[in-house]
Amino acid sequence: MPKSIVSIAKGVDVEKMVHEVLAPFGGVKNIIKPKSTVVLKPNAGHDAPPESSVNTNPELVAAVIREVRRANPKEIILAEASAIGCDTMECFEVSGILKAAEDAGVDKVIDIKQDKDLIKMPIRDARSDISRMLLPRFLVEAEHIINMPIFKSHCSMVFTCALKNMKGVVQDKVHYQMHQTDLAAAMMDLWSIIRPDLQLADLIRPSEGFGPHATLPTDFGCLVAGRDPVAVDATVCRMVGLDVNRVAYFEPARERGIGVSDPDQIEIHGPSIEDVYKELWLPYLEGFDKYPEYTLDTEGACSSCLGLVQLTLEKLKSLDEYDKNSDVTILVGRKSGIPEGVEHDKLILHGDCLKKYRKHGVFVGGCPPAEPHPVWAIVDRKDYTEIGPGLRERMAVEGPLFEKHMHKLKQQRDKDRQN
Ligand code: SF4
Repeated sequence: MPKSIVSIAKGVDVEKMVHEVLAPFGGVKNIIKPKSTVVLKPNAGHDAPPESSVNTNPELVAAVIREVRRANPKEIILAEASAIGCDTMECFEVSGILKAAEDAGVDKVIDIKQDKDLIKMPIRDARSDISRMLLPRFLVEAEHIINMPIFKSHCSMVFTCALKNMKGVVQDKVHYQMHQTDLAAAMMDLWSIIRPDLQLADLIRPSEGFGPHATLPTDFGCLVAGRDPVAVDATVCRMVGLDVNRVAYFEPARERGIGVSDPDQIEIHGPSIEDVYKELWLPYLEGFDKYPEYTLDTEGACSSCLGLVQLTLEKLKSLDEYDKNSDVTILVGRKSGIPEGVEHDKLILHGDCLKKYRKHGVFVGGCPPAEPHPVWAIVDRKDYTEIGPGLRERMAVEGPLFEKHMHKLKQQRDKDRQN
C-alpha cells in the first residue's frame, strides 16, 4: 500500500514555505485544476486578534490565496462557520483574516452559518447518533477544499488541527448535535461525507497551554501539508511531543478509513521530525495527582472529558473557587454504579455517559460537555445541559482571570524545567 505523504516546511518567509510545502505533491498546479472552484477553510472560529494564535495566521491565508491563483482557478472562496455563539464575519475581521484575504484577491467570503442553500447529506454506516448532516451546497460542489487549521491545545480533544478544523463547515444546529453525541465519532462521520483535497496546518506560531481560548502562542516556524488528515495530525503530534495513543480520535479515524497514523505508513518530505522537534506545553494529559483536594473517579473516561476536567479544576483555581468547592465528588466516564451516600449537590456527573444517573447529582450534559459548563455546574450546583444565553458574557468575565492563572503556571513549568 502506498504511504501517506506528509510535507514539512520550516522558515520565516511564509510565501516561500507555502511553495516548498506543496512541492512533494507536484506543486499547486498539480493539486488545483484550472477553472475550478477552490474553498479555503481556515480556523477563524473566534473573534481573537492575530497575535493570540487562536485562529489561522492571516499571512498564511494570503500566501495560500496567491499560490492557488497561480493554478488559474475560476474562483477562490474563503469560508467558515465560527464557534457556537460567535459571529463568523466578526471573527474574520478581528482575526485579520478578512483583510489579508481581500488584499490577496479572494473572490468571495462566505459565512456558512448564514448560508441558506444546504444539502442534506446521508451518512452511511454512521458511528455517532447523527444519520445525516446539512452541508452548504457550494462546499459539497466545490472541486477543491483546502483545510487550513492552526495547531492549538484543546480541552475537549487534547489538541485541534486538521481533523477537528472541519467541524467548522457545519451550521450551529449540526455543530450542537455533534456535541450531544460522541463528538469524536461525529467528527469522523462528517469526514466521511466531506473530504478536503489538502490539509495545510499552520505551525508558524501554534498555541500551547489550556486552549482553545486561553492560548499561549509559541514560535515554531513550520507548515505541514498532506492529503491524509490523520497522517498530518499524527505527524504534527510527533513534532510537538504529543503521544498519539493518548488522543481519543486517532482510533475512530483509523477505523473509519480516513487515514493512517502509524509512522511506518507515513513518508515525510522536507526536514525530518527530529530536525523541527520542539516539545510544546500541552497540559491536558498531565494527570490528576496535583488535585488531591478533590475526589475524582475518572475510570473509563475518554481523553476529551479528562482534558475538560483538568481545565475545570484549573479554572476553579483562577476564579478562587477551587477550595470552596472541594467537597464535590466528580464522576467521569462510563460507570456501572455511583458512590452511595453522596449528597445530590456534591455529586458532579460529568458527561452524557452518566445521564442515566442524573437524578442523583448535578448533571453536566454533552459528550464531551461544552467547555464552561462543568465549572458553572460545580460553582452554581445546578445542571448544565444546553448552550444557553449569557454564555459569552460570563466567559468574557472569566477569561482574563484564567489567562493570568495560565501564565503563572507556564512560568512555574519553565522554572521547573530549568532546575
Ligand atoms: S461523556 Fe463519556 S463517552 Fe462522552 S467524551 Fe465524556 S467520557 Fe467519553
